[in-house]
Amino acid sequence: MISSKYTIREQNESLILNHIIKHKEISRADLSIVSSLNKASVSSITKKLMDDHLIIEKRIGEASSRGRKPILLTFSPTAGVAIGLDLGYNYLDAMIAYLDGTEIKRIQRVDTYVSKDNVLAMIEEVVQKLCIDLPKTPHGIVGMTIAIQGQVLNDQIISTTYYDLMAFDLITKLNNTYDFPVSIENEANLSALGEYTFSSEFENMISISLHSGIGAGFVKNGKLEVGNQGYAGQVGHMILFPDGRECPCGNHGCFDQYCSTRVIYQEIGQLKNIEKVNSDVVMQLYQKKDPEVLKMIQKYAEYLAISVNNIIMIQAPEMVIFNSPITKKIPAIVEFIKDYLKNRYAKEVKIMNSPIQWNPVIYGAIAFSIQQFLNIEQLKLMNGDAVMV
Ligand SMILES: [Zn+2]
Repeated sequence: MISSKYTIREQNESLILNHIIKHKEISRADLSIVSSLNKASVSSITKKLMDDHLIIEKRIGEASSRGRKPILLTFSPTAGVAIGLDLGYNYLDAMIAYLDGTEIKRIQRVDTYVSKDNVLAMIEEVVQKLCIDLPKTPHGIVGMTIAIQGQVLNDQIISTTYYDLMAFDLITKLNNTYDFPVSIENEANLSALGEYTFSSEFENMISISLHSGIGAGFVKNGKLEVGNQGYAGQVGHMILFPDGRECPCGNHGCFDQYCSTRVIYQEIGQLKNIEKVNSDVVMQLYQKKDPEVLKMIQKYAEYLAISVNNIIMIQAPEMVIFNSPITKKIPAIVEFIKDYLKNRYAKEVKIMNSPIQWNPVIYGAIAFSIQQFLNIEQLKLMNGDAVMV
């Protein structure tokens, strides 16, 4: 019998399951050793996990010097599916995937603008399309997580800057529509979680999202840190220049006002008299070695490097990973930042771009729902389609 899929999995069950996921294949005897649970407990928990279709007996392993050949257990990612949705201010990215992140279907749209009036209809339509011809799985849809470009706390949208969903009770409305759990979370946090779960070997890492606004997601000892009021990682409002440019947050000289893609597109547009600037336009001008653009990118990289230095000094990560169309298309910016960091500690931190074709936010959204379903916080899933970095 499958236990109710939406009740919180019992702790020892999650512990055993996480060991099975981590080891890829493992015997009951070894599970008892790594989990410090006795053999009888391991035996009853693994039976329950098998009844729940979350693990399978994969194959017979090699026998130790004496004794029987052990049966090796493995995680069964096709036990269910999760939905992730990245709600950008001018795009939408949605994916349905198995419990290891393997994509089943993906829908990406550009030039879609969400508002309080159309957001529900837009989500419902995309979810319906994702579910057409959905493969049958024992648990079906285990959850959906939506990435929001704004501050989120306890499933409520506290503030949004680039679209108007502030104080909009998206969760209650979606929970009335769907029988699976729905969550919302800040996109920079989900970006960090996506990198942590699917692409990185590290336990302490920071993902910096440079888009129309700047945000950072912090993973510390394998756990997402959201801070008081969900405010951790609002690095776009670190002050770079006293008495600098005015910021909607109330301060002057914020990082956001100098290094967001919105600002750089605007500045290059004004400088070169181009109406619509995007990352491709910036890359082309950079590759043509346009002297004014080169100078501007140099300044931009310097501001980024100063900010990254400061973030590293506070958070002590093992890795900083950039998620931005600008740094992906002009990787020299990341190289510049590495050179700029002279501090002994900062030099030890791995600094890199997120792979170009991969949107960590959508994988983070998938990971968030899987974590909740399995009740495993420090979850690493390297078996899916994601790119290992
Ligand atoms: Zn600000």
